[in-house]
Amino acid sequence: MKYESIIGLEVHAQLLTDSKIFCGCSVSYGADPNSQTCPVCLGLPGVLPVLNKKAVEYAVKMVLAVGGTVAPHSIFARKNYFYPDLPKGYQISQYDQPLSTGGSVEIEIPESKAKKKIHLTRIHLEEDAGKSLHSEDNSYTNTSSNVKQKGETLVDMNRCGVPLIEIVTQPDMRSPKEATLFLNKLKQILEYLEICSGNMEEGSLRCDANVSVRPIAQTKLGTKTEVKNMNSFKAVEKALNFEMERQIGIIESGGRIIQETLLWDAEKELIAPMRSKEESHDYRYFPEPDLVVLKFHPQTISGIGGIRSEEKFGTPTITIVEKIKQSLPELPEARKTRFIKQYQIPEYDAELLTTEKKLADYYEECVKNYPNSKAVSNWVMGEVLRELKERKISVSEFKVPPKELASLLKQVDSGTLSGKMAKDVFVEMAETGLSSEKIIQEKGLVQVTDTKEIESVIESVLRENPGEVEKYRSGKERVFGFFVGEVMKKTKGKANPSVVNQILKEKLSS
Ligand SMILES: [Zn+2]
Repeated sequence: MKYESIIGLEVHAQLLTDSKIFCGCSVSYGADPNSQTCPVCLGLPGVLPVLNKKAVEYAVKMVLAVGGTVAPHSIFARKNYFYPDLPKGYQISQYDQPLSTGGSVEIEIPESKAKKKIHLTRIHLEEDAGKSLHSEDNSYTNTSSNVKQKGETLVDMNRCGVPLIEIVTQPDMRSPKEATLFLNKLKQILEYLEICSGNMEEGSLRCDANVSVRPIAQTKLGTKTEVKNMNSFKAVEKALNFEMERQIGIIESGGRIIQETLLWDAEKELIAPMRSKEESHDYRYFPEPDLVVLKFHPQTISGIGGIRSEEKFGTPTITIVEKIKQSLPELPEARKTRFIKQYQIPEYDAELLTTEKKLADYYEECVKNYPNSKAVSNWVMGEVLRELKERKISVSEFKVPPKELASLLKQVDSGTLSGKMAKDVFVEMAETGLSSEKIIQEKGLVQVTDTKEIESVIESVLRENPGEVEKYRSGKERVFGFFVGEVMKKTKGKANPSVVNQILKEKLSS
């Protein structure tokens, strides 16, 4: 029998604010444990949370980008549970009145090219909890100043109060592959909006999944399980495949799926049930009494910056949400379509160039300075991406600015460099950050196009190889390549190949 999986995701994305959602503590990654905390995020008695305006704006951006509806009123709620990394004993989240409902993200199935909409149930704001560091964890042994003792657990509160949005999908995905496609799209949108770094390994994008399986023709849903602790895109696909196979195995052997929460173990590549104590959920949600209702009025947002304060915005003719909408950047799909039209490049190129906003920006900046858009596309997809991959860096860390790539390409057009030489110079530019002019000058790399100079090299090559000349003239035209090679050797690769070809042909046929 053939089975399909029914998958719904809950994605937590860390918002790229400078400070936490309810206090002024820094959210930068990699700081010493417990160095970024204050009485508010530690939940000491008598403190009051103050909502971060930027976090609200970022969340609204995401809602609008996926076509969701911003609720005019939403409220924060306390989610109560006991865990060592949650000093307050509750997490401030949103429950029955979330920031938004609806919206969708479109994915493209690679094999069929079919488009499919993954619908969203809601997006809401919440704070993160701290982190328990168990002695078996790598993260534990990486922390500098701690005593390491087997079986010991330490706690780091730096993440307490880090602003998150939780994005909840409907169970629209039918395979682990679709789930990863969705996550990739989501990450791309978050990155275009510049509201989340999308780095799963650093925990700024995390995902839990609800999974069930059923025979393909069946309409009734099977019992679902929840899979947690998937910390990379690879882990998501592996864990979901594992869980799908596990459930099919149980059904086929006549067993029944138990509704439970499971943890993915990336190292052992298997799934294990959470201890029952950890999953006995009774969160006793109730409205957070220390925060007022978050309201989007036509010209203000109230509920931000303390209990009674109101944040006033200018321009009385447009609503706040409308204002944020107008600030949205061009999103990946729109940009891809524009690239195809404006730069006359194949869909494949446009897709690849717009995967990342910074890469798309790089491409456009380069085309501005060197308008042969297809040539630039080839260079960016080929040389630039290869350098980034080899150096394991992002576009923003890349040492060759787009203007410099443009000027390198101009030097090929003007005949200063051959295509081959340009590629070598480019590698040097990526290594040193120097301009192409500087490298050409330092290495004396200018291509020889002077016909007199090339002619004399060719004459000496022909003189030194009378046998080969004889062969060529008797019809073995394949030796032509041998002469070109010799000329290139003598000129250290600097001779202009088309000039060499032309003169060589003349000389050999005379
Ligand atoms: Zn704090």
